[in-house]
Amino acid sequence: MKQEIQAHNNVLELIGNTPLIKLNNITSGMKGNYFAKVEAFNPGHSTKDRIALHIIEEAERKGILSPGDTIIETTSGNTGFSIAMVSIIKGYECVLAVSSKSSKDKIDMLKTMGAKVYVCPAHVSADDPRSYYEVAKRLHNEINGSVYINQYFNELNIDAHYHTTGPEIWNQTAGKITHLVACSGTGGTISGTARFLKEQNPEIKVIGIDAYGSVLQKYHQTRQFDANEIYPYRIEGLGKNLIPTATDFDQIDAFIKVTDESSAHAARELAKTEGLFVGYTSGAAMQGLKQLEEEGIFSEEDNIVVIFPDHGSRYMSKIYNDEWMEQQGFTDAKSQDTVGIEYI
Ligand code: PMP
Repeated sequence: MKQEIQAHNNVLELIGNTPLIKLNNITSGMKGNYFAKVEAFNPGHSTKDRIALHIIEEAERKGILSPGDTIIETTSGNTGFSIAMVSIIKGYECVLAVSSKSSKDKIDMLKTMGAKVYVCPAHVSADDPRSYYEVAKRLHNEINGSVYINQYFNELNIDAHYHTTGPEIWNQTAGKITHLVACSGTGGTISGTARFLKEQNPEIKVIGIDAYGSVLQKYHQTRQFDANEIYPYRIEGLGKNLIPTATDFDQIDAFIKVTDESSAHAARELAKTEGLFVGYTSGAAMQGLKQLEEEGIFSEEDNIVVIFPDHGSRYMSKIYNDEWMEQQGFTDAKSQDTVGIEYI
């Protein structure tokens, strides 16, 4: 029998079709069946690969982008990495304005992937000329032939998940999903996935995870922007200090808020109990699940899908670093490791 070479043409062919993995241990004593959509299995190690590929290919289809053009974006790191990866394969320049809250690992990774990175102060208002939004807008105006991805205000962000994450979860659960739990930053993941799933079955409940210090939950409840909700917090990529149009609030039934500390502990617990080495917002999503279960919203036969947005390797200098945890005051009994390092 003649054997064919089995190879992907390039790394972009591996985007999407991430596995759904049952959570067995961390959920013990919790009512319901829990499944994690582990987005770290994307080649860029996060869910943002999906939107980078979709938005860039849509721009190509519309004739907006041609080889050698520049792609600009504001990003907490993951979207930047994904855009940089797609840009390398497709031959674009990648320029990124990132928040100073992003970990050094993430910024170094973006440089490694060939991006030009501008680091902007995290705790300034969105309309401040130093904010990453304003810096990206300025660069877009200055650079000829540039495209600004603008993930917070781009409908195609929702569209990417409507066409990929939603159908994948529907098929992987054989249509038996009862609840979707997902982080909300731009809102693209939760909105697009929910839009598809609710079209299949309007009974599916969708719960967004928000951070203390973010305006999303309050806006969902009141449809009013309340600046009093805003204060600094640690989790990167979750919650927001503005209302993104990439969030379709009508698709979301409720938001729940989680703390920086409980989310960090939940991420560490996922590694120890499930062998899943995932990021800070995955910990936030897991923490949200626990709180929802404590509120009694799940029953024994429910099939709950939680989306884990990225990989743990991006947080080695943060939640997976004991000194960092201590500096934040996140060292109660729960964070003490049962195994440690022994120097011989
Ligand atoms: N987790 C991480 C690590 C992220 O970078 C983001 C994106 N900001 C999210 C969660 C939230 O996803 P979305 O923007 O689709 O709401």
